[in-house]
Amino acid sequence: MKVELEEIVKPLLEWYQENRRMLPWREDKNPYYVWLSEIMLQQTRIEAVKEYYARFLAELPTIQELAEVEEEKLLKLWEGLGYYNRARNLKKAGQKIMQEYDGEMPKKYEDILTLPGIGEYTAGAISSICFNEKVLAIDGNVLRVISRIVASKKDILLLATKKEIAKKLEKIIPEEAGNFNEALMELGETICIPNGKPQCEKCPLQTFCLAKKKGLIEEIPVREKKAKRKVEEKVVFILRHGERVAVQKREEKGLLAGMYQFPNEKGDKTKKQIEEILKKWNLKAKRIREVGKAVHIFSHIEWHMTGYEIQVEAENEIFEWITKEQLENNFAIPTAFAKWKKII
Ligand code: SF4
Repeated sequence: MKVELEEIVKPLLEWYQENRRMLPWREDKNPYYVWLSEIMLQQTRIEAVKEYYARFLAELPTIQELAEVEEEKLLKLWEGLGYYNRARNLKKAGQKIMQEYDGEMPKKYEDILTLPGIGEYTAGAISSICFNEKVLAIDGNVLRVISRIVASKKDILLLATKKEIAKKLEKIIPEEAGNFNEALMELGETICIPNGKPQCEKCPLQTFCLAKKKGLIEEIPVREKKAKRKVEEKVVFILRHGERVAVQKREEKGLLAGMYQFPNEKGDKTKKQIEEILKKWNLKAKRIREVGKAVHIFSHIEWHMTGYEIQVEAENEIFEWITKEQLENNFAIPTAFAKWKKII
């Protein structure tokens, strides 16, 4: 059994015209909006992105404002989305667009690809959707849909598999490249969904789909398990003095670079060890109370955290001591610390 892939183009485009969801970044094809939404969508579901997207654009409505934004404000706008380097790269790319392209997103795929933080997928999405360049934008949705249609059991996490799928799609990409890319992604997001059962009975490609014909839907796509993540135990300190709480800035390099956090130390600690740490920070506890545990999962590491709320006798100079209001409005605290932020 073999599928002639070019046969999917027409029904796919027709289905997309009828069924496309109205999304804020789809209304006009402003490249800044498409770019921002694509970067946000790399880490969060569409429904959650809508709110971040609206807030971000309300504050930074143009590429010029993005290029000029203060880092603290940028990180605050990104708070909760994670992968903060993506926000920093947005700004760097904005600066490059201002300097080299008069504030206008370059139109060609090859030029878009030179912007910081923009990889093949995002460059493909922007150039095909906004400028109708005939290039592909292959994300996990596209890999899943095509693997199922051709019943390929190759590991979609491998670059070689992606290249093979790109080769097949290059042969069939139509003039309406933007719609074609969006249609494949939309099908993957709404019908040929990743976890759980795809809704094949609603799928415009069901008559072509070999995975369906061969009963292989459960097995495809193949994703080999990634290496196990490293687990790091941590103690998080919610240090309180009156109305204020201690925060500190993380190092400028590495995980969550430059973000604010509640002071924390690696390892699981006894009460005695906690007191020693406080001493090292020139702090003295009036009261120490455990306030629960939390796990945060990054791509390569898991933090297993235990929180302690500690009333201290006086503030030190090592940390910044801020009010709840300042914490809400001016300091970007990564989602990893969300549990502790909630109790402030
Ligand atoms: S028929 Fe089912 S498995 Fe095949 S592409 Fe459509 S939704 Fe996916």
